[in-house]
Amino acid sequence: MPTVQFNNAAYEAEPSESVLDTLLRNGEEPNYSCRKGSCLNCMMRAPEGGVPSSAQAGLRDTLSVQGYFLSCLCVPESDISVVPAEDAALFQRAVILSRELLAPGICRVILEPATPLYYHAGQFLNLRRHDGLCRSYFLASVPNLDRYLEFHVKRMPGGQLSNWIFDDMKVGDSVDIQGPNGACFYLPGAPGQSLMLVGSGTGLAPLVAIARDALNDGHLGPVRLYHGSHTPVGLYLRDTLFDLAQAYPNFNYTGCLSGANPPLGYSHGRADDVALGEIKDLSGWRVYLCGNPPMVHGAKKRAFLAGADMQEIHANPFELKELRSEPGSGEHKTFAA
Ligand SMILES: Cc1cc2nc3c(=O)[nH]c(=O)nc-3n(C[C@H](O)[C@H](O)[C@H](O)COP(=O)(O)OP(=O)(O)OC[C@H]3O[C@@H](n4cnc5c(N)ncnc54)[C@H](O)[C@@H]3O)c2cc1C
Repeated sequence: MPTVQFNNAAYEAEPSESVLDTLLRNGEEPNYSCRKGSCLNCMMRAPEGGVPSSAQAGLRDTLSVQGYFLSCLCVPESDISVVPAEDAALFQRAVILSRELLAPGICRVILEPATPLYYHAGQFLNLRRHDGLCRSYFLASVPNLDRYLEFHVKRMPGGQLSNWIFDDMKVGDSVDIQGPNGACFYLPGAPGQSLMLVGSGTGLAPLVAIARDALNDGHLGPVRLYHGSHTPVGLYLRDTLFDLAQAYPNFNYTGCLSGANPPLGYSHGRADDVALGEIKDLSGWRVYLCGNPPMVHGAKKRAFLAGADMQEIHANPFELKELRSEPGSGEHKTFAA
């Protein structure tokens, strides 16, 4: 079996075991969160190489060539020496400019980075508190339209970082940010293409950004945004989205309520059910799905079966830190929208 060298120790990997799981099984405490290759919190570096390319999926080329990789995806084929990701290469400081409630349990956080951040609307950053606690959040801002970085954070019952953001984080405090990450963004070049955007809860954040970016870029095809929540208060930004629909005739917003007896003016059902019920043929469409992982994974399959090309489906599940499963068990918690 290959060994994983870390911190002057060599640990033997079990068959099919990831570098992250080998380190955790041996009592090391590397950073990690989702364990699925989505959040990039577990990034490490292999200075002498030997990383399978599948462990660099989603990393920017500048990071891949320096030997950065995702330890949760890296099943070593031979002995490998790994070190923690170097801070200065990955993180920069950002100051909290404001924090306000958008709805009960959902807040908007505005940050100013120490140096300009070049990103696409719809990408995500990792936010790290000074004690090292780190979680991923999508950008709700648009580089060409907004001066600062905006995030929408849902308070998770018992969640460490989200509760800190709601209760203890102060304007003027700073956090470290890493990114931008992810390939969920608007691609100019096909202005007539139809876009379907489906999100639950704070999955709305990147979708608003993508829609505003596309419309500002002169997108001419239909842009159909479906936002889902259990209750009406969860459909935050409703007025803003209706205003956007007034300003751009090709933009359409549908608020979807999955709870019983929705008031007039809302569609009844989960956002993905409403969207796929209304648009049955997705051939030629580009589809963006964000939020609750079971919804995102299920809708991805259904969008494909409805005719969307797999390359045109951008699926972004909000995976939570897996705290309950054993290393390598593959179980995960889901994000309740
Ligand atoms: C790419 C990506 C983008 C994301 N974007 C967003 C976004 O834009 N907005 C957003 O709101 N979220 C987003 N998320 C989710 C976000 O990263 C965090 O996972 C979320 O905010 C919860 O973090 P937390 O530290 O508050 O909760 P954690 O402390 O990580 O806890 C997660 C869950 O586990 C439970 N838990 C905690 N401790 C224990 C324990 N000892 N035993 C059992 N269960 C426990 C908590 O109650 C909570 O429900 C995104 C995730 C990913 C992967």
